[in-house]
Amino acid sequence: MSLPENVYDFLLNELPKIAPQIDRDNEVPKSFLEKMKELKIFGLNKYGIEAVYQAIKLSSRSSPAVGHIISIGNIVSIGREGLYSDGSFLFSLNVTEPGGGTDIKSNLKTEADEREDGSAIINGEKVFGSNAQYGDKFIILAKGPEGPTLYVADRQPGIKVEPMDLISFRGSGISRVYLKNVRALRIGTPGRGIREALELINYERFGYGLIALGIVEGVLMELESHALSKKIFGKELGEFQSVKWMIAEMETKMELLNSFVDVTIEKIRKNGRIDPIDAAISKIVAGELAQRATWIGVQLLGGKGLTYGTTIERLTRDARSLDIAGGAREVVLDFIGDYAIKKYKQFF
Ligand SMILES: Cc1cc2nc3c(=O)[nH]c(=O)nc-3n(C[C@H](O)[C@H](O)[C@H](O)COP(=O)(O)OP(=O)(O)OC[C@H]3O[C@@H](n4cnc5c(N)ncnc54)[C@H](O)[C@@H]3O)c2cc1C
Repeated sequence: MSLPENVYDFLLNELPKIAPQIDRDNEVPKSFLEKMKELKIFGLNKYGIEAVYQAIKLSSRSSPAVGHIISIGNIVSIGREGLYSDGSFLFSLNVTEPGGGTDIKSNLKTEADEREDGSAIINGEKVFGSNAQYGDKFIILAKGPEGPTLYVADRQPGIKVEPMDLISFRGSGISRVYLKNVRALRIGTPGRGIREALELINYERFGYGLIALGIVEGVLMELESHALSKKIFGKELGEFQSVKWMIAEMETKMELLNSFVDVTIEKIRKNGRIDPIDAAISKIVAGELAQRATWIGVQLLGGKGLTYGTTIERLTRDARSLDIAGGAREVVLDFIGDYAIKKYKQFF
């Protein structure tokens, strides 16, 4: 099913007007967030996974930060039964700790003192908690009695949130989160928290493919309106062969990723879950495509492309984080490499 018309219109027409402000202030205005809740944008799963990913792509043309909020807000309930949001509240995802996100297991210091009924008291500290600035419910990975386990906590005084001042995804609510005697409830299988967190992160990785597609569309729209018809040496910029080749490169790779996304969504529908390799491929291609597209965008805009506060400047900064968010590029490549080596070994 596709996006409801009022959500589509809102993200298409209202978001671009406010996107520069969100980036500048590192914050989504309260009234805008309330409107998103009113439109049930954090509960798009009821229209199917396709609607979630359409919303991420559309938002990311002007605000990958809002695309990211929508992604994290919705993927939590794609990944886990029983964590459904009707759209009136927002989930925040808190896995990474100050010691380093790549090696989740050995850096996990946050502790959960758990009772028999699955309730727990959590103490610790998280970094890069997506949506934490606005979140109503916090998904937290902590060390329980049987090892790493997932918990959920309502926003409460023991959760102190400090928005991080990043150069990418400004306003997406990514924050440092301090947890002091936080009342929480176990939502996962005891001791299986890392695997279950990674299952959620796979949907996030896939979502980065959609953010990248939105970024490329945003770049092409910028080029269309500010560069391609500019007259240089007696002809329009878009008539030079080298320029056409750059546009062709973006179009070709964008269509390839679009097709991959469609096939992956179909597979998720059929299998009821995402294949971790598809998620990894989406994330790797996303980082490469979005960074190449924003490089071309700046190049073809010339001096204008280097102007602070423009859409292309924002998209360029946002594209950079696609190689780090959801797991460093190197770690994701390792995962794909191991899979490919195993796959081809069987032929010999
Ligand atoms: C935009 C954004 C959103 C995020 N959202 C969330 C979220 O919602 N929840 C959450 O908990 N966390 C989130 N994170 C954190 C993210 O998961 C981590 O930043 C990521 O896993 C990398 O961890 P790190 O930053 O601690 O880098 P480190 O683990 O310290 O790694 C630093 C660098 O070392 C290199 N490296 C690491 N391991 C290897 C290896 N095995 N081989 C080769 N090189 C390696 C890589 O170049 C890597 O970039 C987010 C981060 C960003 C940027």
